[in-house]
Amino acid sequence: MTHSAVIVGAGVIGLATAYRLARDGLAVTVVDAASEGAAGTSVHNAGWIVPIMSAPVPAPGMLGKAVRWMVRRDSPLYIHPSPRPDHVRFMLRMLRHCNTEDFAHGVEALTSLNERTLALFDEYEEDGVRFEHHRAGQLLVFTSRRTMEEYRAATAPMERIGHSAVPLSGDELRDLEPALGKQVLTGLRCPRERHVDPVSLIRGLEDRCRGLGVRFLRDSRVVAVRSRGRAVDSVLAGGEEVEGDLFVLAAGAHTGSLARLAGHPLPVRPGKGYGFDDTSGSVTLRHSVYLGEAKVAVTPLSDRLRLAGTMEFGSFDGAVDPHRLRGITRSARTYLPGLPSAVQPHGWTGLRPMTPDGLPVVGPLPGKDNVLVATGHSMLGVTLAPVTADLVSAHIAGGRRSTGTAHTAAPFSPRRFT
Ligand SMILES: Cc1cc2nc3c(=O)[nH]c(=O)nc-3n(C[C@H](O)[C@H](O)[C@H](O)COP(=O)(O)OP(=O)(O)OC[C@H]3O[C@@H](n4cnc5c(N)ncnc54)[C@H](O)[C@@H]3O)c2cc1C
Repeated sequence: MTHSAVIVGAGVIGLATAYRLARDGLAVTVVDAASEGAAGTSVHNAGWIVPIMSAPVPAPGMLGKAVRWMVRRDSPLYIHPSPRPDHVRFMLRMLRHCNTEDFAHGVEALTSLNERTLALFDEYEEDGVRFEHHRAGQLLVFTSRRTMEEYRAATAPMERIGHSAVPLSGDELRDLEPALGKQVLTGLRCPRERHVDPVSLIRGLEDRCRGLGVRFLRDSRVVAVRSRGRAVDSVLAGGEEVEGDLFVLAAGAHTGSLARLAGHPLPVRPGKGYGFDDTSGSVTLRHSVYLGEAKVAVTPLSDRLRLAGTMEFGSFDGAVDPHRLRGITRSARTYLPGLPSAVQPHGWTGLRPMTPDGLPVVGPLPGKDNVLVATGHSMLGVTLAPVTADLVSAHIAGGRRSTGTAHTAAPFSPRRFT
């Protein structure tokens, strides 16, 4: 029987899992290297809940684009020309997944996984998780009809789970969002997509976890995993030996090395993103808006407008490259001309946990009987947090619950990397 769980990582995946397992009645401890909750990737993102974007990053043609963009320091996609073997190996593995068949498999798997996403966020609110939650819907806007048609085709499979993308003209889009400029020619309206303030979601989940008795160990990086045969007994963190019946590795982009400590490394690498918060009030929006060709996410929050973008492979650090921020600002002004032209002073970065096939890794760690992994959510960690926690909970419960989710969970098994 599982009575206690230790969760490594207090990002959105770790917290959603802690909340779910505490509600299941387990004694939960969350261990995190950071000293406070408002620091990592889970607060530095666009905050979108977007089942309509259920697609893996490795897509046909993706690496070709990246190679063309490698000469531009402000491009939305960038691969560092680093000779580090783990980086090269990862990129080559990802290249192998940039084909139509794997992409279609990934879309299908992520779409099924997203079936209950909105219902689970509603349940958060019903259960007293407090966070800033917007239901106005999302607009994907484009300066070219061709790009719009590509996105329209890409979003068609999500109609199966009730998420649609309705084509609109530039003028129809401006009726909905007058801040959009004349260059916006066409777009898609996705009425069921939502967004949150990610900072408030992290705080809300942590508060609710504390209310349920979850213990938090902050400033405590896991540096060793103690095992006896196939069972992990404890993790060593912040000078403390933390014991539990079950361990969940949810350390975001660092989960690969953490899994190595537990005896089975996983190919999880960072995909660095950038963003900033505009508090000038010069542009107001109701919907979250995706600036299609620029690949920039714009999120209207109660006290700021958040802009986020860029996928940079090969850097593990949190340094802010001003060229990238400038790239986001410059390209966003094409769509939203009212934005200030000056580079924003408070830029931030976040490390998306990436896998070579672009799919999350959720399930038992091979070689261990009491270790589960929950990571690799790439651009969809906020969206997929509640449903990931649900899969972990079902796995622990076993029996009918785990049989019921087995089909949905299968494509995400860590075993695919053995
Ligand atoms: C620019 C940008 C925009 C994004 N926009 C969206 C969006 O709109 N919608 C969406 O769904 N997703 C979005 N994402 C993706 C989303 O933010 C991530 O998928 C998600 O935050 C990953 O959460 P996580 O809990 O796995 O990892 P993290 O948030 O990175 O948390 C991992 C935690 O583990 C801790 N840790 C690491 N190593 C150790 C260790 N050894 N011991 C103890 N603790 C450790 C870290 O301190 C950290 O707190 C975006 C990401 C970026 C960068």
